[in-house]
Amino acid sequence: MTLVPRHAPRLAAICAVDRPTDPCVRVGPMRGQPSLLPSVRKQWPGKPLLYGIGTLLVMPLRTLYGVGRVFGAGRFLCNMTSVSSSLQIELVPCLRDNYAYILHDVDTGTVGVVDPSEAMPIINALEKRNQNLTYILNTHHHSDHTGGNLELKAKYGAKVIGSEKDKDRIPGIDITLKEGDTWMFAGHQVLVLETPGHTSGHVCYYFAGSGAIFTGDTLFNLSCGKLFEGTPQQMYSSLQKITALPDDTKVYCGHEYTLSNSKFALSVEPGNKALQEYAANAAELRNKNIPTVPTTIGREKECNPFLRTSNPEIKRTLSIPDHFDEDRVLEVVRRAKDNF
Ligand SMILES: [Zn+2]
Repeated sequence: MTLVPRHAPRLAAICAVDRPTDPCVRVGPMRGQPSLLPSVRKQWPGKPLLYGIGTLLVMPLRTLYGVGRVFGAGRFLCNMTSVSSSLQIELVPCLRDNYAYILHDVDTGTVGVVDPSEAMPIINALEKRNQNLTYILNTHHHSDHTGGNLELKAKYGAKVIGSEKDKDRIPGIDITLKEGDTWMFAGHQVLVLETPGHTSGHVCYYFAGSGAIFTGDTLFNLSCGKLFEGTPQQMYSSLQKITALPDDTKVYCGHEYTLSNSKFALSVEPGNKALQEYAANAAELRNKNIPTVPTTIGREKECNPFLRTSNPEIKRTLSIPDHFDEDRVLEVVRRAKDNF
């Protein structure tokens, strides 16, 4: 089995549409785990680019080792003969506080959209670039994630992709996927993670080659989704699954809730310095109408109370007994947030 990728993952672009104050930053591939291919990793030049108020990033090639380690899946690694070459991710604000994401494979021109809550902002963004739409990916069935499906499908003939469990409630669904499935988006392997809790059919899409995950309403910046159809235990397991990914994985969630989430997070863990900085930074960004997405797994582990269920300060603040298992801690934290 040869694990040499045909292309190094090059770039992901993150821009906001119709937001003149937003930055348009191109970032390089994020740092991977220890490499099976040290020579390839060392040779990766990390093409530096600077767009808008971007930062110079020189990062090594993301390797396959991290992916294999996380999922322990020989099947997945053996399929990993080609790593994504160039994926652009464009954030599109929708409704009041939703984010949809337009995915663009630069090499083939293939375009997809994640969670289009409404069609018009997506159509406007596509028309600006004279792009067609091939795929619609839904993380779950809620209308603020699927509301644009039918109109976009009718206009572009795009295929709708979602969880097998939601095949009867995602409008226009064509392709159903389940836990561990890998689906190809123009040469980019997409791993499907079932993450029940917010809804029973919720899935996240992990673009391993680009180090990006679309978490819908499961993992937010500094919070998790409300438990409409799942148990705290399910949400705990779902979050564990996501946070098993490499720390530098970029997390694209479904809503801009960061500012209010930061207030709750600080109320339960006021002594967390990293969280204080995170909250201050979020406030500054939102003041300028700049999205706080994406975050990273590593950053969330340091600051997100729903990923810090063993933290003594949080347990003390919420009077949680020491013997509680972490899923029970999550239950208490979730209840406290619901009443915050
Ligand atoms: Zn939802």
